[in-house]
Amino acid sequence: MILLDGKIASAAVKTGIQEQTQQIIASGKRAPHLAAILVGTNGASETYVASKVKNCEEVGFRSTLIRLDSNVEEAVLLQAIRSLNEDAEVDGILVQLPLPKQISEQKVIEAIDPSKDVDGFHPSSAGKLVQGLPTFIPATPYGIMLMLEHFDIETKGKHAVVIGRSNIVGRPMSILLSSNLKRGNCTVTICHSQTPNLQELCLQADIIVAALGRPEFVKADMVKEGAVIIDVGITRVDDATAKKGFRIKGDVAFNEVSPKTSAITPVPGGVGLMTIAGLLKNTLQAYLINN
Ligand code: NAP
Repeated sequence: MILLDGKIASAAVKTGIQEQTQQIIASGKRAPHLAAILVGTNGASETYVASKVKNCEEVGFRSTLIRLDSNVEEAVLLQAIRSLNEDAEVDGILVQLPLPKQISEQKVIEAIDPSKDVDGFHPSSAGKLVQGLPTFIPATPYGIMLMLEHFDIETKGKHAVVIGRSNIVGRPMSILLSSNLKRGNCTVTICHSQTPNLQELCLQADIIVAALGRPEFVKADMVKEGAVIIDVGITRVDDATAKKGFRIKGDVAFNEVSPKTSAITPVPGGVGLMTIAGLLKNTLQAYLINN
């Protein structure tokens, strides 16, 4: 069994980005610049944004973090996005989700200039992905593709089962795996909460991408011998014995599933790190397109 270690794969991607950034700066140009907006003080969102900013610094990017109060009006947030759209020194914009109830996530996603849409959530980016046109791929599916590439996981002709159909993970993942790409060309089954025969479908899968947000949902009796398992889930589960009072759990019961697999991602230390790598790649791409 190969452990698909996100630390190893993301470090390789980040080294490449860092070298390219050094060349850009050495040629007298400014560094790529990511602007992130964080609304409120949600613990998980704070952690994700802090990690994105730290990773930008590590590869030599500039980053700006804009913090807005949790009861900020939608119009104020939309204005902040417009200012970043117009700022020629900002290459990528991300608004950390989820947002408070008074704000429409869809309006926010659509307010971001598609040429700076490094999260790849804008309908224009999603449409291009469906049509196989160059675009920003949502960071998590992009990171998974980079991980498959790093560990040379064969996908051509395989049956992939994707559990979850969200716009940020499951659906774009299903499109990428079914596309005519080096790490695509799978036959893909996409499952969701209304799929009645999930276990039966999973047992036919050569590759399972679990992105449903239900801790340890995928058990050993759902997995074929030799399957490749990509665990996207991140759920904080209360645990009084843990220093922070919670533990991070994936969507796969790692201990019982891993002996049956040919390759599997750990949680934490798997897809989460690759998501950051995908975001950094998108930011560099935005910089190169806009400059
Ligand atoms: P989401 O928007 O809540 O979507 C969950 C999907 O799973 C939905 O399509 C839902 O079906 C499906 N689902 C829920 N229960 C199911 C069940 N019992 N059987 C089959 N399908 C079921 O979640 P998301 O944003 O895609 O995120 C999924 C997980 O990935 C979460 O744990 C999230 O924290 C994690 N995540 C991790 C990263 C990372 O970097 N590692 C990035 C993003 C998200 P319906 O459509 O029918 O409701």
